[in-house]
Amino acid sequence: MAYRFDLISLFPAELDAALNFGVVGRARQRGLLDIVLTNPRDFAFDAYKRVDERVFGGGPGMVFKLEPLLLALKQAQAQDSRPAQVIYLSPQGVPLRQPIVRQLAQHARSILICGRYEGIDERFIERYVDLELSIGDYVLSGGEPAAMVVVDAVSRLLPGVLNKAESAEQDSFENGLLDCPHYTRPENAAEGSVPKVLLSGDHAAIARWRLQQSLGRTWQRRPDLLANISLNATEQALLASYQAEFAKSKRESG
Ligand code: SAM
Repeated sequence: MAYRFDLISLFPAELDAALNFGVVGRARQRGLLDIVLTNPRDFAFDAYKRVDERVFGGGPGMVFKLEPLLLALKQAQAQDSRPAQVIYLSPQGVPLRQPIVRQLAQHARSILICGRYEGIDERFIERYVDLELSIGDYVLSGGEPAAMVVVDAVSRLLPGVLNKAESAEQDSFENGLLDCPHYTRPENAAEGSVPKVLLSGDHAAIARWRLQQSLGRTWQRRPDLLANISLNATEQALLASYQAEFAKSKRESG
């Protein structure tokens, strides 16, 4: 059975179109992924179909009302008997990282709530949300771009979605490290030549080089990631020789 995402958003058509190409679009076409959109405005029953209201206590900005969100959520929950985590995309949430993406991919479905305005009524969060997720320390005007990030990242881990050439196993963060650099034809260009080892056909040497590059890049760009994993003796030696080479080239370049 396909993994199901329910997206609760005031912009269902835009989200649907934005999630209809590339890996995600293909997964949908192949029946590996269902994306079902629900618009809370369809559950606003006043003459103006309003889903926002002024904030209690005064001050600028509007707040996403509780009732239309709740009715949209109930409809989404009722359409599929499989249990689903209810996730609110929020700058105040847990930072989205690959282990959380992996965890979500283990479930059969997830419900994503896209906020707008100053955010949604706090009582909805307290009562109905299982997890608040942030895609970074900045503020978007709506949860839709964040929902797209979650859908894309989870989809590529679902069985059958990626083909072998696109495999996620060597991607950054899968083993706690950043990915190594990649090259393709031409072998020689005005911008430089491809590292010789990659043309050697020596698979063990290539694997060693790639691991060393991953270790070195992670050390240079994301030392916080290295602090979270323990390296075996081979990895320590590869990193030490990368660091020695880096120090040498720095000395030589002045
Ligand atoms: N007043 C809120 C605050 O400061 O925490 C920000 C509200 S924001 C303008 C409107 C909506 O965008 C939020 O309800 C949330 O759904 C979404 N959003 C904004 N930044 C986000 C982020 N970094 N990650 C995930 N969702 C975000």
